[in-house]
Amino acid sequence: MLAISPTDRFVVLTGAGVSAESGIPTFRGVGGLWRNYRIEEVASPHAWRRDPRLVWEFYSMRRKVAASAKPNPAHIALANLERLLRERLLLCTQNVDDLHEQAGSKNVLHMHGELFKSRCDTCSRAPFQDRNTYDPPAEIPHCECGGRIRPHICWFGEVPFELDRIFHALEQCTMFMAVGTSGLVEPASPQPNENTQPLNNRILVTLKPRRDHVWPLFR
Ligand SMILES: [Zn+2]
Repeated sequence: MLAISPTDRFVVLTGAGVSAESGIPTFRGVGGLWRNYRIEEVASPHAWRRDPRLVWEFYSMRRKVAASAKPNPAHIALANLERLLRERLLLCTQNVDDLHEQAGSKNVLHMHGELFKSRCDTCSRAPFQDRNTYDPPAEIPHCECGGRIRPHICWFGEVPFELDRIFHALEQCTMFMAVGTSGLVEPASPQPNENTQPLNNRILVTLKPRRDHVWPLFR
C-alpha cells in the first residue's frame, strides 16, 4: 500500500499493456503487423503520402475495434486515483483509444494522439472529434483548405505531443508510476533504487524519480 501525502504529485504513464487487457491489440513496436504490412508501412508520413486510403483503412479498422472496447480495472483505478489527487495527478498515455476517458479520467494527455480525432494534413485547424470510418472505396474527406483529413495520431517519424508539459510535470512530481509500457523491459527503463517499488511485472512505482531515469519511457 502506497502512502500518499497531501503534497505528493503524480505522473502516471500508461502503455499498450493497459489497452490490451481490454482487447485492443498492440500494433506499435518491433514486428507489429497488419494484413502482412509492417506497421511502419501504414503508420508513417511516408505511408500517408504514398497510399492514404490504405492508412485510413488501417485506422478505420482500429476505430471499429476500439469503439466496442470497455475500460478494465486498471483504467478505473487510475480514474479513482485522479478523483483523489485532482490536479496533482497527470495521466500521460501512449494509448490512442479513449478508455481512460470512458473510465472517468479527465486530465489525460495523449502523447501519441487520439484514435477518435482527425485533423487536416495541411492547415493548422484544430483536431476534431471523428468516429467515422473511411474504408475504401469511401472517399477521404477534405478540409476547406483543400488538404486531406488524416488521423490525429503521432506516426513513426513524428514528434509525440505535449513533450514540454510532460517534461515539466516530471520535474515537479514526487511519484512516478508506469503501467503496461513495454519500455519497462528494455535497457532504457529506470534503474530501480531503494525508492522504487516494483509491484508486479507491469506496474512500476518510483518515489522521488530522477527525470533522466524515467524520461526514456516517454517515447
Ligand atoms: Zn485544412
